Formats: sequence, C-alpha cells, structure tokens
Amino acid sequence: MVIKMKKYELNVYTCINCGKKMHVTEVTDHLPPCSNCGADEYTTCSGFKPKKENKK
Ligand SMILES: [Zn+2]
Repeated sequence: MVIKMKKYELNVYTCINCGKKMHVTEVTDHLPPCSNCGADEYTTCSGFKPKKENKK
C-alpha cells in the first residue's frame, strides 16, 4: 500500500502572478486557481513581491 503525500500542507500561499494570499485550511494536492487572476501557481515565501510588468 502506497500512501501518497499531499502536495500542499496548511499554509498561506501567495499567488506568484498577482500576490494575492490564499489560506489553505485543508491539506490538498491541488490548489484552486487564484480567485483574483486565475493563476494556479503559488509560493509560500513570506515577503514575496509579485512581478510588475507595467511598461511606461
Ligand atoms: Zn493571482
């Protein structure tokens, strides 16, 4: 019997695209898309600053 580890533990994840924070309250192996921008990649790094792609 193989027990597969869940990918995401309880933590606060930050959207790498817009920086929106999402609190994960249940261990899961799949995070839902960002409710703000729809991205599905997150970081747990505190103090993370989202990229700014504003061009003048
Ligand atoms: Zn986002």
